[in-house]
Amino acid sequence: MTLSTKEPQLPPSHFEQVEIEKVMVELDILKKQSERLDLINKLHGRMAGILSLTGMIEAYSVWLMPLVMHELIGYDNSVRNKRHLFCSGHGPYRRKTIALAEQLIETGTKFENTCACHDGYYAYKWIFETIDDSGILLILKKDQELYEDEMELINQSLEILADSLRRGLEYEDLFERASNDPLTGLANRRVFDDRIDGMIDSARRYCRPLTMILMDLDKFKNINDHLGHQRGDEVLVSVADVLSHAVRSTDLLVRIGGDEFILVLDNTDLKNAGILAERLCSGVDGLNVWANESIKLGISAGVAELQGNETLKQWFERADDILYHAKAKGRARVCS
Ligand code: GH3
Ligand code: MG
Repeated sequence: MTLSTKEPQLPPSHFEQVEIEKVMVELDILKKQSERLDLINKLHGRMAGILSLTGMIEAYSVWLMPLVMHELIGYDNSVRNKRHLFCSGHGPYRRKTIALAEQLIETGTKFENTCACHDGYYAYKWIFETIDDSGILLILKKDQELYEDEMELINQSLEILADSLRRGLEYEDLFERASNDPLTGLANRRVFDDRIDGMIDSARRYCRPLTMILMDLDKFKNINDHLGHQRGDEVLVSVADVLSHAVRSTDLLVRIGGDEFILVLDNTDLKNAGILAERLCSGVDGLNVWANESIKLGISAGVAELQGNETLKQWFERADDILYHAKAKGRARVCS
């Protein structure tokens, strides 16, 4: 049937023309909405598998870059002391951009969703609710303000980013609770189990010494008995403070049990670990905690460097035996 092609093609009436234009405009709007939705879905997809806040900020920046050219995306949450700045540039330019972002965050410059111009950069700040406080998102753009539709896109995407950041904060909370001893804030045994094999492997691979200091407070039961359990808790926190001030980020400090701590020192031999252990003992002695006139809080330490093919179990038991000697010899001392 080709009937229709033979029919004369009348030009659309004015009324029809107007209708067609209306439909075209609507189609255009729907097309734009669907493209937006597609973009937003892609952002959802990118964010879905990420747990870390740094990863989220980076993924957001990567997603946004082809749509809105920008120099830096930053997230700051002063209540939780979290700051993640992602800048795609390099070298001195990168440092300059980050320095500007830090300055804008720290001076608490008052601007929100509106632009503030600094040194050729246009800065935009959004404030949004996180779990129990608010965070800010900072976007720096060079030489050009955001167009209206760019602003609209960011506004639309912000809720997804904020949701992801909330999830990231919740995850960090859970992770910290699972990894930290709630009383002292030190790492717990779970962290020790997670990290120790890696430390041993890397010490062996790079032929570096690895030394463990196993410590146990002396007569701590007397502290509890004479000063009360709450004071005992406070003493544990002070001891953890003394110990944690002595460690480097590569070391592993753990509250392994009630009044027992382990410090594993990366790239440190027996002699140097012994010197540090002496300092730790003096530090605890310096807390000047007395259970009564004759019983002063101290700490005993057993120091053991990892040997040849020794297993973790053998190494730990050796450190435990050495600690036992320190106790037997009169406590408040280091043995190795
Ligand atoms: P020693 O010199 O032989 O180590 O004697 P000690 O009294 O320190 O005895 P031990 O190390 O065997 O016992 C540790 C005590 O620490 C037992 C427990 O009552 C107490 N303790 C364990 N965890 C906590 C805690 O979280 N808070 C308080 N206040 N006390 C704790
Ligand atoms: Mg003890």
